[in-house]
Amino acid sequence: MRLTIVGGGIAGLSAAYYASITNYYSQITILESDSRWGGKISTDRVTFDDGQFIIEGGPDTFLASKPWGVALCKELGLGERLHGTNPNNKSTFVLNHNRLLPLPEGLAMMIPSDIPSILRSRLISWVGKARMGFDFLQPAKNISEDESLGAFVSRRLGREAYENLIEPLMSGIYAGDGDQLSLMSTFPYLRDLEVKHGSLARGAIEMRKKMNASARAKHASPLQGSRSAFLTPTTGLAEIVEALVAHLQSHNVELRLNTRVTAITRNVERGTWNVTLDTESLETDALILATPAPVSGKLLSFDEELSSTLQSIPYASTATVSLAYRQADLPQPLNGYGYVIPRREGRKALAGTWTSTKFPHRAPDGYALIRVFIGRAGQDIPWNKDDLLAIAKEEVKLTSGITAEPMISRVFIWEGAMPQYNLGHPEKLKQIDSALEKYPSLALAGNGYRGIGIPDCIHSGELAVEKIKNLMSLRGAFVATKQSLN
Ligand SMILES: Cc1cc2nc3c(=O)[nH]c(=O)nc-3n(C[C@H](O)[C@H](O)[C@H](O)COP(=O)(O)OP(=O)(O)OC[C@H]3O[C@@H](n4cnc5c(N)ncnc54)[C@H](O)[C@@H]3O)c2cc1C
Repeated sequence: MRLTIVGGGIAGLSAAYYASITNYYSQITILESDSRWGGKISTDRVTFDDGQFIIEGGPDTFLASKPWGVALCKELGLGERLHGTNPNNKSTFVLNHNRLLPLPEGLAMMIPSDIPSILRSRLISWVGKARMGFDFLQPAKNISEDESLGAFVSRRLGREAYENLIEPLMSGIYAGDGDQLSLMSTFPYLRDLEVKHGSLARGAIEMRKKMNASARAKHASPLQGSRSAFLTPTTGLAEIVEALVAHLQSHNVELRLNTRVTAITRNVERGTWNVTLDTESLETDALILATPAPVSGKLLSFDEELSSTLQSIPYASTATVSLAYRQADLPQPLNGYGYVIPRREGRKALAGTWTSTKFPHRAPDGYALIRVFIGRAGQDIPWNKDDLLAIAKEEVKLTSGITAEPMISRVFIWEGAMPQYNLGHPEKLKQIDSALEKYPSLALAGNGYRGIGIPDCIHSGELAVEKIKNLMSLRGAFVATKQSLN
């Protein structure tokens, strides 16, 4: 069985990896339009003054609690190279009327579970805090349909808590608009907490107890920083991409960069797929599209319904700007991991990460590295490097008082990078799944569907490989049985 994978981001590379470790596929080819592997994973290693800056242009860490990231790293021999975030100096802030105010302690999966800490917080007024208390009193709403994240959290905790505290944490992950994001597709566990505990805060308190117990149990684990919620390899996430590519090369997978797929058609008689490239065409038995959903939609134009559903999944554009300074040029030390910015502050930036505090090994001694995350769904920002750099400098001046010129700056522009799981997304997934039933040798992977984080994308690649293998083996068995009966 010849398998072709389109897209060499983490989802496509993971699909190729899982395909390569089964004996099912006789030939595996992965096609990537760009001149490098990794897609949104892009690490710049800048040697400076006997040390190195590790500058992440896209993702900078992955969630440890979703098992697929850690599992793949261990299989690739990177288990010992995974670092957690700095266990000291963990403060995180929220921008509130141009001041950085500390995030209350005791958030469990972003929901407040430490009441005294909420009562002390200056992020929410006393009226807002009283409204949050209603969460303990109002019963779970008896509805089965989806709600927006904004509507759900505002209903439970009040609009002020949503806008000042929860929105920047949750919507920020998607660079999305919480009043559009589907609760069921983004944070379905929140609805479970409501139903099970009758209150988000009560559910969060229970969840925190469990998380503390599991962190204690993991204490003896050999992974560095294993108690950290987030992990990353020592010299950046590109280590995962590099290890995947090395594995694929040693397993005779055909790896083709600078190879854009322009069309896909079905060869119904032969039961195969024709993959059109700029100057040639390939025939393959099975196909995994690990490209952004709208790209996959355009490529699958032979099925109008599937194609239009895929193209209807919206993506937001974002950018990151990393700035390096001498510690001596900072008016004050960067005490914490950084800050998030609520949408209602009306700023172009979404968050600022004090990278050299969060991951001290990412800057040489005596230097500081800051990353500003810019752009969110529905917000227009300039998409050129000079303007983005100017926005980032203005941001660090406002929040950290830094006026010195950065010694190093790097701007990464990610157009159409962040899928928006808006209201209606679960129905789109059902339509896509049902359309795909017609094509057992075709699967989709990547961030457009059931999770945008790196572990979810890795898992999507693994599932795509399994789906094709299972369905095609079943079909093979069926054809063999039919032939033997004839
Ligand atoms: C700025 C930023 C910060 C993020 N932070 C985090 C984080 O900290 N942690 C986390 O877990 N996640 C984070 N994410 C999300 C995560 O990085 C992405 O969801 C994930 O990397 C997407 O992987 P993918 O393989 O699905 O898609 P992509 O990485 O987009 O890969 C798709 C590939 O397909 C290729 N392609 C497209 N069209 C064609 C074609 N016609 N022919 C051939 N190839 C084609 C593209 O060039 C690309 O390489 C972040 C994302 C961004 C943009």
